[in-house]
Amino acid sequence: MSARPHLVDSHGRTVRDLRISVTDRCNLRCTYCMPAEGMPWLPHEAILTYEEIARIARVAMECGVTGVRLTGGEPTVRKGLTTLVRQLRALSPALDLSMTTNGIALRELAGELREAGLDRLNVSLDTLDRDRFVALARRDKLADVLAGIAAAKVAGFAPIKINTVLMRGFNEDEAVALASWAREEGFELRFIEWMPLDFQQQWDRTKLVSGEETRAAIHAVHPLDPAEGDDPSAPARPWRYRDGKGRVGFVASVSNPFCGSCDRIRLTADGQVRTCLFALKEWDFRALLREGATDGQIEQLLRDAVLRKQPGHLIGQAAFRQPDRGMSAIGG
Ligand code: SAM
Ligand code: SF4
Repeated sequence: MSARPHLVDSHGRTVRDLRISVTDRCNLRCTYCMPAEGMPWLPHEAILTYEEIARIARVAMECGVTGVRLTGGEPTVRKGLTTLVRQLRALSPALDLSMTTNGIALRELAGELREAGLDRLNVSLDTLDRDRFVALARRDKLADVLAGIAAAKVAGFAPIKINTVLMRGFNEDEAVALASWAREEGFELRFIEWMPLDFQQQWDRTKLVSGEETRAAIHAVHPLDPAEGDDPSAPARPWRYRDGKGRVGFVASVSNPFCGSCDRIRLTADGQVRTCLFALKEWDFRALLREGATDGQIEQLLRDAVLRKQPGHLIGQAAFRQPDRGMSAIGG
């Protein structure tokens, strides 16, 4: 559906992937993401309507975007999410349409999301222990998440990917148990390094468990080999189990950044385009849309934003500044 020139940045990277946060709200309060109380939620009128989201997605797709991922906050807490999935699917049968979710609502929604045209699911799960889950997410919802994952399987989502963030001194001792569980269940687990994107700005590098350390721990129990078909623009480096029982991935955003092949931009729930998770500048598409912009003007602002996509994040360098927005208000 690429009727317009592709979105190419000044470092030669072409944008193919659009991450859309449909809400900043959430039904969990994961400690590495947001505080227990006092989150400054966006007011309703600040949030893009589904029609506004679909319009931006359409213009981006006309400019060569081939994948859209819905995220949040927790995307399933926004009413009528299936309607948006249907609108996006109607734009193109070829669109790679996926969602990242905490899984709580999947027991109820997996079937209708699949039927509406959602292709793929990533479900976040950091522990298999109920008490730990409560300590981490501040809600007693592990059983709902596991039931949601099971419902996603029944609904026909395949492969289902599981996202895990490890924190030293909290759940890094569960890396092998989580990998073993995912192998047996037929899920592809991806370990994501904790990034300085928490609302509380309490990120602490000493609590980060690197992808390499995690890989070594898993390799010691379940030997691993590099997986073929490695897509350099994908954030996770995939490995396959030597015994043929599936794959596992490592998103080493901090210890081994992959910015040089990044093909992503993000649209926040309040209509701001960010060309990097760590960007300090945003591009206001909500204002443009509500001023009555033409598709050509939307395309032009996309081009302006992408052209200035920064070469990479500066974590660990003196010039690094954590953005004011946390992960849940950006869209992970
Ligand atoms: N609520 C949904 C979920 O948890 O899957 C979607 C949004 S959440 C922000 C997307 C992903 O970002 C989750 O897998 C979560 O574990 C991860 N995440 C949140 N805060 C993070 C941080 N500071 N560093 C790394 N990953 C983080
Ligand atoms: Fe909610 Fe996802 Fe953040 Fe956890 S990681 S608090 S589920 S947005």
